[in-house]
Amino acid sequence: MGPSGPLALTRNLISLERGGDELLLVNSFHMRTMYVARGKERVKRLLTEAGQGLTLEGLKSAFPHDADLIQLLRDYRILVDASEDKECFEHSEIAAADPRPKPRMTVYLLITEACNLGCIYCLNGAGTYLKDGRSKMSPTVAIQSVIDCLEQISTGGRVEVGFFGGEPMLQWPLIKEIIRRCEDDLKPAYHDKQITYHLTSNLTICPPDLIEVIRRHNITVMSDIDGPPEIHNRCRPYRHGKGSHAQTAATIRRLAAAGIPVSLRATITSVNQDYIMDTVAHHKELGGSTSAVVPACPINSDREFLADELLPDPNRIIAGLVEAFHSGLWDKENLFPFNQYIAKLRPGTRQVMSCAAFSGTIPVIRVNADVYPCIYLVGQEKCRLGTAGTPWDRRWLDETLLALHVDNLEECNSCPWRYACGGGCPLTKLARWDGVASSPKAAEYARRISCDFTKAVLTEMLWDLADEARTDLAGGQQQAALSAPESTLYC
Ligand code: SF4
Ligand code: SF4
Repeated sequence: MGPSGPLALTRNLISLERGGDELLLVNSFHMRTMYVARGKERVKRLLTEAGQGLTLEGLKSAFPHDADLIQLLRDYRILVDASEDKECFEHSEIAAADPRPKPRMTVYLLITEACNLGCIYCLNGAGTYLKDGRSKMSPTVAIQSVIDCLEQISTGGRVEVGFFGGEPMLQWPLIKEIIRRCEDDLKPAYHDKQITYHLTSNLTICPPDLIEVIRRHNITVMSDIDGPPEIHNRCRPYRHGKGSHAQTAATIRRLAAAGIPVSLRATITSVNQDYIMDTVAHHKELGGSTSAVVPACPINSDREFLADELLPDPNRIIAGLVEAFHSGLWDKENLFPFNQYIAKLRPGTRQVMSCAAFSGTIPVIRVNADVYPCIYLVGQEKCRLGTAGTPWDRRWLDETLLALHVDNLEECNSCPWRYACGGGCPLTKLARWDGVASSPKAAEYARRISCDFTKAVLTEMLWDLADEARTDLAGGQQQAALSAPESTLYC
């Protein structure tokens, strides 16, 4: 039995058209994508009529030859029962963080807050990070922080220990000491949980035992290469001004030659926005295992905005990314953001928040043991969760988690893309809520990176899924259910 009340078009309808006859429809609340390979005008005509408030029986009478199509549109929740079908979360359903133990956490240890480079877009503000001098975390703080996370995850779960900074390789002996204590003390004590390691580094420092240690402990590695040598050197010079490409590239080549996967990313500003294809090609040539193109964050930890002249043009980033995607140089599983966004399109997925920071599963530990939810929030006292070894005060985190739910965000709660998007990185929203002024250009850039960039990438992925489905359909059919593979969170 179908609904007896009036039908309506879902208010979460993403509708894309391509060429003369293709149509792609998805209700983002359910994330089941309906692909119409032929006959889009017929479907659109039916949807227009259905949007006039006809009942199911009324619609079937108006389109007597389209009963199957009507049923399909109902099944995919493109046509909904205006009075009964759930289309969003009620306020009472939007709860604070789920208190159940998490299966996975990543703890970012700021091994040192100092760095040997002076990148033009550095996220570490001089007022909030100890950028100068030789700050260094104590092994006790590091181990306590790992214990704090092990205690919070579920049996069988995993804590990833991320060595971060500043530049963590400035304190290589400390990294090795932390790994030794995790291996010798924590793994036996928490034998029902896993500990893995990750290193984010500029890789300008390459100690003789780097390969051996990485290999022995399966450490995953990520580094930034912002373009071919001359471009990279303009974006990521040493603090004294000399370019850093030669040293970083030499280490990457050494690791790659040893069979160690190195994820490479490029942070995009106005300096390298027109070199995206060259950059992903350079990542490949260096032997990177994955390539990531990441628009620069317009705000740093001091809540200072990136200078207007460094802000890239989102249209040029999108154009470069689309070119890179279609070049076939990288599989989509190894090219960010496509490899992350595909997970947003998995049937039934609802992206009510853009990132994991506000569920407290990617804590950042400062040299002084203070705990923050995200590297960009380090030093903001109201965001501090506590200190390693003491219970976290989650009040601000929980309030923020609620406020950032896509159904609570004024600018997002009527957007049909919201359950696929999640609302974008919230850093500039948080700054605005606290009355921090930005330039009109930075505010517009932040908005467009949240909205236009996200929609453009999702659009590419939706059509890519449609193309896959079409290829798979022997003889061609008019509609196909699409699905997306598993993927991991990137940020
Ligand atoms: S950030 Fe933009 S695209 Fe994403 S949900 Fe909000 S309004 Fe929609
Ligand atoms: S998306 Fe989340 S984790 Fe990433 S920078 Fe923004 S707030 Fe931090």
